[in-house]
Formats: sequence, C-alpha cells, structure tokens
Amino acid sequence: MNNTQFVEFTDEQNERINELADEYRARVEGSTLKRDYDFPQTFNEMAQDVHANSRAHGWWEQDRNNGEMIALMHSELSEALEAFRHGNPPDDHIPDFSGVEAELADVVIRIMDMAVARGLRVGDAIIAKHKYNVARPHKHGGKAF
Ligand SMILES: [Mg+2]
Repeated sequence: MNNTQFVEFTDEQNERINELADEYRARVEGSTLKRDYDFPQTFNEMAQDVHANSRAHGWWEQDRNNGEMIALMHSELSEALEAFRHGNPPDDHIPDFSGVEAELADVVIRIMDMAVARGLRVGDAIIAKHKYNVARPHKHGGKAF
C-alpha cells in the first residue's frame, strides 16, 4: 500500500469485518459493548500530555475562545480534504504517514487539548456514544446517509 491508496481488504478480511458487524447487530437489544475498553484512561493521559505541550508552546498564555478552537478543528479537517485533493502524499513533518493521516491526527490533538482545558470527558463520551450507536437501528431508522 502506498500513501495514495486505501487499504483493500481481502475476502477473508471482509468476511471477518462482516462477522463483527453481525455480532454488533446481535447486541443491539442489549446495548452492550464487545468488551470493556481502557480507551478513556489512555485518551485522558495522552490528552494531558497534549495540553501540557500546548501550554509549553504558549498557546494558553490567555484563555482561548471556544469558537476559535472549534474552527481550528474544522481547519484540520479541511487540510485533510486538501491532502486527498492532492493525492494524499506523505506528510511533510511525519513522512511515514500520509497527509490525511497527519491532518486527522491534528483534529484529535486539538480535541484533546480542548478537552483538558475545558474539563470535557471526551474519552468517556466516545465510549458512551459508541455504546449508543451499537443500539441504534439499521441505518439509524432509515436515514439515507
Ligand atoms: Mg494540520
């Protein structure tokens, strides 16, 4: 795989993915997750590091505006779109990763920074939201997309 292609799953991998999707569908009534995750703790630990780095670089010398922080998350998504538009070449700063990978990472880093600054429980919310999504009906009750 190069940086301009998506992963193409083998038939065996597709079969396994479909099996997992079937398992999730089977869990809809109970609204249970496949397993417990330590994701929130890992997310929070990393987010603390991200925020500390942001402070160390002077980005929190004054309180920041919520709208500005969210707009900057949007800007990272736009950078991901631009990377796709340019064939998704290796990122300039972390060339082992594609531009899209790097820009999506920037989105998460900005979310982590804001989460710590504002005391938002984003890591836990991701698990709660995933659990909610597991329990939703097929195509969330008939939405087109
Ligand atoms: Mg960026």
